[in-house]
Amino acid sequence: MSVTIPLFHAHPGLNATLPYVALGELPTPIERLECLGQVLDGGRLYVKRDDLSGVAYGGNKVRKLEFLLGRALAEGRKAVLTFGCAGSNHALATAIYARKAGLDAISILLPQPNAHTVRRNLLAGFQAGAELYHYLDGKRAGLGTLHQLRRRRLSDGRYPCVIAPGGSSPLGALGFVNAAFELKAQIDAGEMPEPEVIYAASGTMGTVVGLCLGLDAAGLRTRVIAVRVTTPPYTSMEKARRLFEETLAMLQQADPDFPSMTFPEQRFCLRDEFLGERYALYTDASVRAKKQAQDTERLTLEGTYTGKAMACLLSDAASGALRDKTVLFWNTYNSRPFNPAIEALDYHALPEDFHHYFEEDVQPLDR
Ligand SMILES: *Cc1c(COP(=O)(O)O)cnc(C)c1O
Repeated sequence: MSVTIPLFHAHPGLNATLPYVALGELPTPIERLECLGQVLDGGRLYVKRDDLSGVAYGGNKVRKLEFLLGRALAEGRKAVLTFGCAGSNHALATAIYARKAGLDAISILLPQPNAHTVRRNLLAGFQAGAELYHYLDGKRAGLGTLHQLRRRRLSDGRYPCVIAPGGSSPLGALGFVNAAFELKAQIDAGEMPEPEVIYAASGTMGTVVGLCLGLDAAGLRTRVIAVRVTTPPYTSMEKARRLFEETLAMLQQADPDFPSMTFPEQRFCLRDEFLGERYALYTDASVRAKKQAQDTERLTLEGTYTGKAMACLLSDAASGALRDKTVLFWNTYNSRPFNPAIEALDYHALPEDFHHYFEEDVQPLDR
């Protein structure tokens, strides 16, 4: 049976050459936010519910994993190895969907400011059966990675498939090229008018760059507001241009009929003001935005990514910049309930390097 996703439907030549495995519940719904939308002063606010992108776990990583795990399976790998910070949604999503696909999952994790979501993701990753390793810095993580790769090569006869941090390789970004084609189909079906702007958090940039490329390829004029939640090299204009070009090159290699294009500078805007002090450290504005979204729409955000993206949207609305505009907020954070079994887990079952996340207090704005 041939899978038809919106990207392959528009460019059938890609279907034969690109790896893909269906994991998600797509398309994700679009909903109008009438109440919160009043801040737009005559504009219309919608949300793209990628929080519901998968049954086992939602959020933006599922779309990337459809291509990334598709490749791991096509290559006959036995395991995948990926990177993140301790509370990484990406490492967790990879663990959950890799295990479902019959692959082992190895997570190489780095320190981050403590939060309730860090504890929950660690327990959920462990529950999903991932091997979790904590390293104190990039150098140690690099050595640890080599060690794990060699170990698995000896035991499995194969290296694990390495997945980039955040899943933001050109292949992973295809998940959001496809998402833009999915949005185009929903606009054509009358689910919402063509938005003038999309707001999304920018961590490793696969989401915002994939969208930017896909919107252009699908003939939409929508601008992408990429709200920085990390420092360079994870998020930067240079990274955006490079990832755009590499993703486009991959598409054109897979299907020479895929159109040529240049990075649309005027339709991509990187916003720096909402990061705060550092990655995963909440800001007053992100905590307020999270509360406002919860109180007005029962829209559940968090402080590391979506709270900062919503803070940017609300700030632009307050300045009058979104008056009479059609705005789409891309909800990248999982809202599926966690496996109740994690409630009963004792954190002592985790490797000792993780225990301090459970023994030390969470950051002040998360208390
Ligand atoms: C990973 C993540 C992002 C950032 O996506 P990138 O493609 O890495 O920029 C945004 N929101 C949430 C909830 C995430 O987990």
